[in-house]
Amino acid sequence: MAIRLQDYEQIVGREEIAELSAFAERVRNKRLQNINSTAVGGGVAEILTRLVPLLGELGIEATWDVIKGDQAFFNITKAFHNALHGHPEEITREMLDHFQANTEANLGSLDLNGDVIVVHDPQPAGLILKKKEIGRRWIWRCHIDVSSPNPEVWNFLRPLVDQYDASVFSMPDFARDLAIPQYMVPPSIDPLSDKNKPLSQDTIQDVLDKYELDSTRPILTQISRFDRLKDPLGVIAAYRLVKRNYDCQLLLAGGGAPDDPEGEVVLREVQEAAASDPDIHVCLLPPFSDLEINALVRGSTVVMQKSIKEGFGLTVSEALWKKKPVVGGRVGGIKLQILNGVTGFLVHSPEGAARRTMQLLANPGLRQTMGENGHLHVKQNFLLTRHLKDYLFLMLSLDHPDEDIVQFYQA
Ligand code: UDP
Repeated sequence: MAIRLQDYEQIVGREEIAELSAFAERVRNKRLQNINSTAVGGGVAEILTRLVPLLGELGIEATWDVIKGDQAFFNITKAFHNALHGHPEEITREMLDHFQANTEANLGSLDLNGDVIVVHDPQPAGLILKKKEIGRRWIWRCHIDVSSPNPEVWNFLRPLVDQYDASVFSMPDFARDLAIPQYMVPPSIDPLSDKNKPLSQDTIQDVLDKYELDSTRPILTQISRFDRLKDPLGVIAAYRLVKRNYDCQLLLAGGGAPDDPEGEVVLREVQEAAASDPDIHVCLLPPFSDLEINALVRGSTVVMQKSIKEGFGLTVSEALWKKKPVVGGRVGGIKLQILNGVTGFLVHSPEGAARRTMQLLANPGLRQTMGENGHLHVKQNFLLTRHLKDYLFLMLSLDHPDEDIVQFYQA
């Protein structure tokens, strides 16, 4: 179903939408082109799927292109991704050369036609080489936690990043020493998408039945790509500790992403770790399982996001919006979303996750209060309408590169 801006009035109010339209007037004549490395799977694709059509609703011609790459390229960029998150990885000259060759190939095939070109994450970062030839305004939007990167990869990336007009990070903790302006724009969720819209109790029950989950016993859930940085084995360890005291179930559900070649191996590790326990449900979800994910989260008792490193972790806001308390790793953007003891609990270890989960299972009133708090926190900070406004501000600021103050309202 087509998305209409007016539909968001019921959630954020008429004034908020009117304000968006007023700001959009100022940048309506610009084309905004987004470029990333996958059309499905992961948070960036999730964001662009919703943001691009709504920018169109605001009268801004927004487009989205995806770079191409072979298996070797995505193996390399996954190693970069892990290394930028601070994980030790061996980075060879050959890898850097292949990255550059892949960039050249994409420069030959991509139509870089935006007035403003937003390049997401490291995979397509090299496209900036085209700026010398075509000009335009270029933004590098980094969705990952680069606060303590492997220096080899960062030193390779930084000369590229410094050629952009501006950079965007999800939170101040990730800011780097760069020659260009840095904007802080956290991601967002769409409250009207299939992933987040309200569902009937019957629909929720049907999906729980389909996945053979028992709604009469507590369900602990983590929705994530099968990625070691999401710590699925740590979640299983936490569940095993909880299971000593509570007859609960664990759901680990997630799919893959074409730009993440490690998914299959990690899924096998998780399946092996879960094999002996019929109450651990490991589900490989196909792309576009949004309604089912929505129902699975709504049917859960506690949601977990026990990441070891995290850019933002959209799954946290998705759960909080559904009034579920979240137990999450004290890392990256999870810290923006889980206000410890208010919207959920921040933890460092499987033991901590188990302790906090048991505290929540023991106390339905606490779950409810945290759920309400979480919903409000997301409403105030992490909805798509706020994100749209940040994009409009960003486009406008790029037109005034040397001004400290930019006036948004025109008299
Ligand atoms: N997601 C999904 N299907 C899956 C697993 C995850 O649609 O099988 C979605 C999830 O609901 C969220 C996004 O993918 O919207 C993941 O974003 P997040 O920021 O949590 O993590 P990332 O994968 O980008 O590291």
